[in-house]
Amino acid sequence: MLTSENKIPCLDLNKQHREIKKEIFEAFEKVYDQTAFSGGHFVAEFENHFAKFCNTQYAIGVNNGTSALHLALLALGIGPGDEVIIPADTFIATAWGVSYTGATPVFVDCTNDTWQIDPARIKEKITAKTKAIIGVHLYGQPFDIDAVKEICSEHDLFLVEDAAQAQGAAYKGIVIGCFGEMACFSFYPGKNLGACGEAGGITTNNETYYKHLQSLRNHGSMVRYYHDEIGFNMRMGGLEAASLSVKLKYLPEWNSKRRNIANRYQQEITNTKITMQAQPGWAKSVYHLFVVTTEDRDKLIKYLNQNNIYPALHYPVPCHLQKAYKDLNYKEGDFPNAEYLAQHCLSLPMYAELTDDEVSFVIDCLNNY
Ligand SMILES: *Cc1c(COP(=O)(O)O)cnc(C)c1O
Repeated sequence: MLTSENKIPCLDLNKQHREIKKEIFEAFEKVYDQTAFSGGHFVAEFENHFAKFCNTQYAIGVNNGTSALHLALLALGIGPGDEVIIPADTFIATAWGVSYTGATPVFVDCTNDTWQIDPARIKEKITAKTKAIIGVHLYGQPFDIDAVKEICSEHDLFLVEDAAQAQGAAYKGIVIGCFGEMACFSFYPGKNLGACGEAGGITTNNETYYKHLQSLRNHGSMVRYYHDEIGFNMRMGGLEAASLSVKLKYLPEWNSKRRNIANRYQQEITNTKITMQAQPGWAKSVYHLFVVTTEDRDKLIKYLNQNNIYPALHYPVPCHLQKAYKDLNYKEGDFPNAEYLAQHCLSLPMYAELTDDEVSFVIDCLNNY
């Protein structure tokens, strides 16, 4: 039985890092002894592992997921005057990737049940300036890739996957990361696969993009001190890469533990005041987050906090209503589903190391609400 001292947060990174501390520190020591701190051998090794994991020809390590999106769009030649379609309900970095290139993000509403980009709403947003669609595998669940791809081929648009939350998720039985021109990953510590530090990556099957990305992340240079274009310093660090190679081995196990917890929430939470993300048959989610909605969110959060459960909000303001994008002139009411989600969502505790008792406690509390 759980006592009141056991705080159950939305995410706890401590348990996982204690369990693998020795292995991670051994990996750090190798990097240290070789002083391979920036790029280099350990990054290349992780890139090979990660490309295999995603079944792609290439993977490129960069310094974070936001840079991954930025560089992927640059490699596609996207820039000022162009438009890129993205869902309104995503972490803001999806939009940053577009804005950094000088292009304009064009937001689209989500469906009212899966909370993924709504393919039926995309067409009305396509103009002569549209160059690409970024689909986000939100909360770890793949979006409807085939439906979005069909729109892309009809209108000659690029598809980029924002896979920041979905390492290891599968669409119709195929691991995501290989469906678009490129897929962008974040290895922020809180993601399903998170570095001990900041990191990100891009997967692709296209050699031209791969080579261009290698140059872009490294000062626009393929031969040291010869710069073919204005590039960036966005390399992945060696310590981060070494920690990721260790953790990648455990990712399938961690993801399956998350799935087990999600299955229990889905089957055992019977309170009709709580609505869960719909899981289409083709989606195998890795449950980066377990988001639910409820009419009176403040009341539910207060009740859970009284029981020592601390949910989080992902995300309280949809992208189109963020101050940063006020010049784009969106207004409340533009995207009812994304706005409803922002106002009513909360994220239940979700991480691989939650114990059966903790999960039972969360379920009991929710059913007694
Ligand atoms: C985390 C995240 C990013 C950005 O990744 P960083 O590594 O934090 O820069 C981009 N898109 C989505 C959907 C994310 O969740």
